[in-house]
Amino acid sequence: MPTEVPDEIKKTANALKKLRPAYSTIIGFYEKIFEAQEKSAAETKVNPPQISNDILSIKAKEKFPLISLSEFFVDINASRKLLKKICKIINKSGNYMSSAAETIFSATENNKLDFNELYTALLNDDDASFSNIASKLKTRKDVLAFITYNSIKPSVSLYAQSVSKYLDKDNPWEKGYCPVCGNLPIISTFESDGERFLVCSFCWHKWTVTRLFCPFCENKESDTLHYLFSEEEKEYRVDVCDKCSKYIKNVDTRIIDRFVYPPLEQIATLHLDIMAKEKGFESGAPLEFQV
Ligand SMILES: [Zn+2]
Ligand SMILES: [Zn+2]
Repeated sequence: MPTEVPDEIKKTANALKKLRPAYSTIIGFYEKIFEAQEKSAAETKVNPPQISNDILSIKAKEKFPLISLSEFFVDINASRKLLKKICKIINKSGNYMSSAAETIFSATENNKLDFNELYTALLNDDDASFSNIASKLKTRKDVLAFITYNSIKPSVSLYAQSVSKYLDKDNPWEKGYCPVCGNLPIISTFESDGERFLVCSFCWHKWTVTRLFCPFCENKESDTLHYLFSEEEKEYRVDVCDKCSKYIKNVDTRIIDRFVYPPLEQIATLHLDIMAKEKGFESGAPLEFQV
């Protein structure tokens, strides 16, 4: 990952704060988390997986994602270090997660938190084990999940990048779920020559899809797919589907002349989530790892 990314995040965050002062606190908070993640990514090492041709051809034929969540590789040392850093950022921010972050930080320092057990429970979607860890620490489960996910995110994204080399470039995926890990997209982008991409809510892999397409029910009919937008923000729109009543936010990177960092765009457009919900649409992607 290029070393200049943390600086670009800072510049983008400043530009967004100027555009939308009401977002200053939340953007300032996430900016620090994203910078810490990018710095951690530069030190994170993942072992690329081996996937045989037989498995690849079955997966491609059946439209199965390349890996399941439990197969993600995590650089434990880099992630543990990042977990502590994220706890400190949260603690300093003084938001509703602060006291839980302090508890989690001291449990890590005092070896009362088994990091392997923690991230394995998250990747296996093992809610019982995860709840158990949270109750032993006497802390909030949602905050523990937020911190855990954000600590392993550099490993998850880098591993997804290495797995994505196995994708068949000649046959577009054309599905609404991630070809790498099977999760749903959190945001969509329009890029040069009008190509549309979906960005995975879990591993942040980006894949191309046809423009007129609902990722959540695969609807392609123009009379039931439309979008909401505001004159003041031509770079954003919310694509909505009348068939499944889900929406996805979309960033038109062609009319933005700054660095576009999808996790930051996702946070800086929370008013669009509100607008879509007011019109009766539901987010198609899970928003569980967000403040
Ligand atoms: Zn994914
Ligand atoms: Zn739909």
